[in-house]
Amino acid sequence: MSFRATIAQLSKILDVSPSVQTATALEAEAIGLTTDTRSLQAGEVFLALRGDRFDGHGFVEQAAAKGAIAAIVDQRFSLAEWDAKNVSLPLLQVADTLQAYQAIAHWWRNQFTCPVIAVTGSVGKTTTKELIAAVLSLQGTVLKTQANYNNEIGVPKTLLELGAEHSFAVIEMGMRGRGEIALLTQIARPDLGVITNVGTAHIERLGSELAIAQAKCELVAEMPSATLAVLNQDLPLLTETAATVWQGKTMTYGLKGGDLHGQLLDPETLAVGEWTLPLPLPGQHNALNYLAALAVAKALGIDWSPLVHGLTVHLPDGRAKRFVLPNDIVLLDETYNAGLESMLAALQLLAQTPGKRRLAVLGTMKELGERSPEFHYRVGVTARELQLDRLLILADPAEAASMAAGANPLAAECFSSHTAVVERLHALIQPGDRILFKASRAVGLEQVVNQFRDRL
Ligand code: ATP
Repeated sequence: MSFRATIAQLSKILDVSPSVQTATALEAEAIGLTTDTRSLQAGEVFLALRGDRFDGHGFVEQAAAKGAIAAIVDQRFSLAEWDAKNVSLPLLQVADTLQAYQAIAHWWRNQFTCPVIAVTGSVGKTTTKELIAAVLSLQGTVLKTQANYNNEIGVPKTLLELGAEHSFAVIEMGMRGRGEIALLTQIARPDLGVITNVGTAHIERLGSELAIAQAKCELVAEMPSATLAVLNQDLPLLTETAATVWQGKTMTYGLKGGDLHGQLLDPETLAVGEWTLPLPLPGQHNALNYLAALAVAKALGIDWSPLVHGLTVHLPDGRAKRFVLPNDIVLLDETYNAGLESMLAALQLLAQTPGKRRLAVLGTMKELGERSPEFHYRVGVTARELQLDRLLILADPAEAASMAAGANPLAAECFSSHTAVVERLHALIQPGDRILFKASRAVGLEQVVNQFRDRL
């Protein structure tokens, strides 16, 4: 069961009077709330969102035709205008429909007492959310953020799915600028808040690492004091910034220290205290993500014993994906996205992957502003320091030049098209090779992976 409320309840939450006030209209109970008429079920309420490229107010008639019992609209059109469009549905007119959506989701979330866990951070949010959900599933049904519904629309959408069947909710929170995590935290009112790390994603917009740390720490700043902060101790900037806004209970985790101190025995095995646990996903960065999930489990009193046998997690495409091809060729597909920290983490993972030669196909990291040359250079330096065998770069000329300069004397080859990279890879490839693919989303590097695999 997900969201339910009567029209009278919705009027109260939104502090407005519906256009139809008969007892039947007020007592009618919505069996859901949707912003999309394509998925609208009869008996639901339709809420019209307005964005830059869409306007739900153009779909109210369609919602009525599909059996919506009411619609929440903004005040741009008068009731007479809706009448003229033959909309006879009870309407709740509000100043801002997005705020209304968030207020309703907040109210619905407050109907439940199950622990709500919020996850934010510069990188690793989705992975950590999936790991937390997988660990908590050992004990009960978990509601979790689907796809990338982690923003001001996605968080309410997820919360509206809460039902009596759920024992836990794991809510991912993304941001592009200041104030966004604070708002999402107010809506979700988490009982536990996890901050995976602070990196350089969105530095162009926010200006500095400190500003990014402050934006992430809005999560703990907005949490009620009786809740728990779960923080990555390996990043002093994170723990120090959190301490300026959070005096409540904290559980730290890390590979360098922390309340939950993990040690990598090998790239796929983690030791924590007396426990030896197989890592669900390989690499140091995923060990940290797993420690966050273990910390949440510990805080909620969940027994770790089943985890000694391993844990299965399915990540969306382009994250930690491994393709084993003929001739013992292994592709590490990390094409979903890239920023400085995730590039460095992926290069480490490639370096630690046993094989004959290690090749990296790397693309532009976007949205880095004036730090872009420096960060591309650092990626090149890391590729050299890790003694990779080849570096193929698909990036804009300036970024490609910075990365190649950092990599020098490791031979770096620069390309300007997907096809050219694929051609070169086919010429280069040898049995036993390990090849990492990573770039910002906009580069579309998965096309190289697909074309390369298709032609093998
Ligand atoms: P986005 O905000 O772009 O959706 P996200 O924060 O949800 O990203 P994930 O989708 O979990 O992050 O991971 C994206 C990539 O970041 C992964 O493919 C991996 O390369 C890298 N990554 C994951 N966790 C970490 C981490 N803790 N530290 C560094 N890099 C990481």
